Amino acid sequence: MSKKWKENFIRVNPYKAGEQPKSGGAIKLNANENPYPPAPGVAALLRAVDADGLRRYPQADGADLCRALADAHGLDPSSVFVANGSDEVLALAFRAFFNSKKPVLFPDVTYSFYPVWCELFGISHLRIALDEDFRIRAEDYAGENGGVVIANPNAPTGIALPLSDIERIASSNAESVVIVDEAYVDFGARSAVELTARHENLLVTQTFSKGRALAGLRLGMAFGHADLIAVLGAVKNSFNSYPVDSVAAAAGVASIADEAYFAERRARVIATRERVAAALRDMGFSMTDSAANFLFVTHAKADASALFEYLKERGILVRHFALPRIERHLRVTVGTDEEMDRLLEAVSDFLRKGRQNAV
Ligand code: PMP
Repeated sequence: MSKKWKENFIRVNPYKAGEQPKSGGAIKLNANENPYPPAPGVAALLRAVDADGLRRYPQADGADLCRALADAHGLDPSSVFVANGSDEVLALAFRAFFNSKKPVLFPDVTYSFYPVWCELFGISHLRIALDEDFRIRAEDYAGENGGVVIANPNAPTGIALPLSDIERIASSNAESVVIVDEAYVDFGARSAVELTARHENLLVTQTFSKGRALAGLRLGMAFGHADLIAVLGAVKNSFNSYPVDSVAAAAGVASIADEAYFAERRARVIATRERVAAALRDMGFSMTDSAANFLFVTHAKADASALFEYLKERGILVRHFALPRIERHLRVTVGTDEEMDRLLEAVSDFLRKGRQNAV
């Protein structure tokens, strides 16, 4: 039988997320998840969910959650958008704003979902090389383009751009939308949300997945001029009017209500990151200056994929990208202090056993 209908299938090269182990017990440092539970108010809210309320559709525009986010940032709710994780926010934003024939610019080493959305939506794009220290040069994003997307801090490098550079990129691109993906902003970078009042072409995306420890809930948001938010809403309503379910929205509000807990857990992650960075440097690793909840490390005498496999055998999952420029690096999420001690012990055993391949 002819399978000619298969010729009409879309051809996509999908994003590959960090592995989710089937059995428990693994130390999971491969998806930049938060090692601590979400705010206690989230658990209380979930225990009190009234299942009968689920007969009803949720608020189509996530109004209560948008209002809570707007209040937290001193914005008008018309400047806030919510959807199912920042991945969905970003996908909708690419569809909404990147419709020029000119290429959308993003770094050669960055979140690997950006080229996937470009291919899915037929958006022409151009990767701009980071400098030799994996830094974004703001001046490289001033040429003609159909849009710009920058992760700040960048992933998987963790390097944060100062706000002055973000502002420079926004003002040198008055004819296109600049998206700043702040998935990791809670761990040390300065947010560009305050710039959205001055730059109508700037959209800032954030997530509840990392700093707020709610990756399983799938909540993400965008901040920007009301005109940008209105177009995002129109695109969302062309796919699915109800992306944020009522339980997730209420849990998001409960998370925002507990700033003290958020600040305390964030400080713990940052303290652990700095301690582990110093310990790995002592073992001969070099790394980028991370403002995120992960470290991006390399060792002149250790083969990254051999170390990745060695750690995996010991039940420790980290991330290795077999990609140009970064195949000698590993990205290691900051876990609890106990988890990181197990990691340091395993890395030190690996180096001692001389299982590394000399360069
Ligand atoms: N941006 C970056 C840079 C990320 O690493 C991630 C997490 N994979 C996301 C966005 C999306 O996160 P989420 O959909 O969980 O909000």
